[in-house]
Amino acid sequence: MQKALFVSGKRKYLFCADQNGMEILQPVIDLAVAEKAPYEIYSEAQPLIEWLKKQKMGCYLYVAAEWAKLDSLKNLTEEVGFSEEEAQYIGYGERWVKVFCCRCHGITEVILQEKQEIACSECDLLLEVSNHYSRLKNAYLGYVAKL
Ligand SMILES: [Zn+2]
Repeated sequence: MQKALFVSGKRKYLFCADQNGMEILQPVIDLAVAEKAPYEIYSEAQPLIEWLKKQKMGCYLYVAAEWAKLDSLKNLTEEVGFSEEEAQYIGYGERWVKVFCCRCHGITEVILQEKQEIACSECDLLLEVSNHYSRLKNAYLGYVAKL
């Protein structure tokens, strides 16, 4: 499970999460409260994009959601103008990723875990899923697993 890291000294903190996500963000919210920093928690009373748009410069945003939803949330916040330095995204639950086979260049989809070996769906080669993510291939690189 990913953890949210508190980035201190921001003008205001914004928290956007569903119920499970709020549990992940709670330690960070506690720290913001302890620092007496202004903060706001998103409620579904208004569309997220409207809520983000009315925020002023210097805000720091936390988003916690299921992996499956996190990408579209990230796209939305980036559209509004939050950069990588102004936001933190924390995913939870099952994370499906693509793994690129180093031998046959086939793609295998798996649920991402800490340390993982999988069989390539194309050539059956045992692959170790690396931390190397290829934006070009939109996949993690799989290397030959050492037996
Ligand atoms: Zn393969």
